Amino acid sequence: MSLLPDLRSLDADALEAYALDLGEPRFRGRQLFKWIHEKGATSFEDMTDLPASMRARLEETATLGNLTEVRRQRATDGTLKSLFKLPSGRHIETVLIPDLEDDGSAKRLTVCVSSQVGCAMGCTFCATGLMGFQENLTPGQIAEQVWAMDRVAREQFGRGVTNVVYMGMGEPFQNYNSVTESLGLLTDGLGLSPKRITVSTVGLARRIRQFADGQASGDVPKVGLAISLHAPTDPQRSAIMPVNRSEKTDLKALGASVRHYYATTGRRVTYEYCVFQGVNDTLEDARNLSRIASWAPCKVNLIMYNPVPGSAFQPPSEGGLDTFIAELVNRRVRVTVRRSRGQDIDAACGQLAVAEAA
Ligand code: SF4
Repeated sequence: MSLLPDLRSLDADALEAYALDLGEPRFRGRQLFKWIHEKGATSFEDMTDLPASMRARLEETATLGNLTEVRRQRATDGTLKSLFKLPSGRHIETVLIPDLEDDGSAKRLTVCVSSQVGCAMGCTFCATGLMGFQENLTPGQIAEQVWAMDRVAREQFGRGVTNVVYMGMGEPFQNYNSVTESLGLLTDGLGLSPKRITVSTVGLARRIRQFADGQASGDVPKVGLAISLHAPTDPQRSAIMPVNRSEKTDLKALGASVRHYYATTGRRVTYEYCVFQGVNDTLEDARNLSRIASWAPCKVNLIMYNPVPGSAFQPPSEGGLDTFIAELVNRRVRVTVRRSRGQDIDAACGQLAVAEAA
């Protein structure tokens, strides 16, 4: 495992400090920032406006990213999934989801990034949860996934990434500092508008408050917040999402944190609700969900469940789903339905997992 620092994790101030440590003037740090975070350079050699002596010192003292792509798969719907190896030898997966116009050009190119190897949250319907927690990613490793997919997007679709969602492997708020630092790298460097980035959490109430306060103070970019809800009452949620069993993170605590988020930032959250047949898809569930939607202005995103091998969960029938949606709409809930993408390569929601023992 490389012990050299990964400059891809450093922001502009830290890169200036790094340049000074090398005995170079401060402005060299700004140049490094441009090369690494604005241009996505993949080697120090590319940094042609740095003195050759400095590039040689950088080669000796630092790395520029540390993910190695070991496999890329393409689904029939055009979704791409890459498997990256970390210096630890563990792996993560990253997904590029193209939304194409009728003429085949890319309307939107969304990268779904991982924030951890595995996940400690143990949601019973999720393949990543079955892996358990293994490792936190650094800010650079999170941003590097976006840069890697940006290159793929340009090759295959003729334009770069337009949106980023933190919905891959891991619970982003369990790796809070790396995630918020990576947001800064992507908005300041790659130049992605915060409006085009969404962080999704299982609902860690204390972190939602911290995120809200960070956005209000300007410490955290004003990206979107999504909450994986998936069940409308405490007993139902606790049965499939162990995080809900604590009074610090049950629905009451979540509701208070969501109200705080809205009061502090003025922004509506999105609830992600994976519909499982016979588990959370009845009319009563829709009514209870509409009560949660009344906590604060929000949107509910219904997701078609992607079965994980060995899982007891099933997606709902079309008819059952229509009735569920109609009940929510009647109750004036803003609803969208997300179609599954990349199912045939296990790239869809809840399907990311890596057999680390292999
Ligand atoms: S759904 Fe998200 S929070 Fe739950 S186990 Fe999977 S990765 Fe972790």
